[in-house]
Amino acid sequence: MAEAPEMQEQFPVQAGIQSRINSSRMLGCATLHPTYHTARLLLCVGLLWVFAAHAVTLPQSAPVPGGVAVVPLAVPANPHAPVARYNGKRVMVVENHQQWFAIVGLPLGADLGAHHLDVTGADNKKLRVAFTVTDKQYETQHIAIQDRRKVNPLAQDMKRIEKETARINAAFARWSDTLADDLSFTLPVNGEFSSPFGLRRFYNEQPRNPHSGLDIAAATGTPIHAPASGVVIDTGNFFFNGNTVLVDHGQGLVTMYCHMDRIDVKKGQTIKRGDAIGAVGATGRVTGAHLHWSVSLNNARVDPTLFVNSP
Ligand SMILES: [Zn+2]
Repeated sequence: MAEAPEMQEQFPVQAGIQSRINSSRMLGCATLHPTYHTARLLLCVGLLWVFAAHAVTLPQSAPVPGGVAVVPLAVPANPHAPVARYNGKRVMVVENHQQWFAIVGLPLGADLGAHHLDVTGADNKKLRVAFTVTDKQYETQHIAIQDRRKVNPLAQDMKRIEKETARINAAFARWSDTLADDLSFTLPVNGEFSSPFGLRRFYNEQPRNPHSGLDIAAATGTPIHAPASGVVIDTGNFFFNGNTVLVDHGQGLVTMYCHMDRIDVKKGQTIKRGDAIGAVGATGRVTGAHLHWSVSLNNARVDPTLFVNSP
């Protein structure tokens, strides 16, 4: 799928980082003797690199279908980020301790074995970086749904579902350059994980898509908090997902909140970690009140727990 147009939104925290980088450049370079031009330039680059290091917490690396591959990129030390593509699509690139990493979302249907990234360094040199996807077995779950129309929708429902699916897919396919302040998520709701990510699902004994998110059980009305900063890119009431909010955290990282009783944010709104975005409910295709939380990276739905309390 083609990349969505790039966004221009700036998160406040990012602006803060940028101003720190700018002031470090001025302080670091003004004190040097002008005749050591080359040395000065190198030192400036070095200082920028050190000051730019704001220690983004990396997600847990789990190079399995439905997981996240954290791939070190062997590019020359440079404060400017390389560009990495996976199957032609941009993927997230972050810096940690003066080392660039690609953070790659792997769909549940990913093939096992050899994969690669196409990387273009800040020096414009191209390289291919290999990584391996290993197997993971997910459990099977059987669910009984009383409302049969939610399992076998009517023709008129299908029209609605197609439109809603296109909207959700457009949100997941989005790319914006600005990254959230931290990739270490806080849980949006405290509660029991009632259905883990990746379950192979049967509704009324009919096979359906695997579970593409994490279900957290909580009473209707429990507040849902943003796990990281971002921008609300869509909200709506959808046939399967009920009241839904989609948040863009930047560089292809998008989160989705479903079955909500109440939505407290608007499309286009900038949010910070911890902001209330709505309340837990039982809207859409559900068996009881819970939050369905999806995390999407480069348009692959991945296990949300990989971003929670990562070391
Ligand atoms: Zn769910």
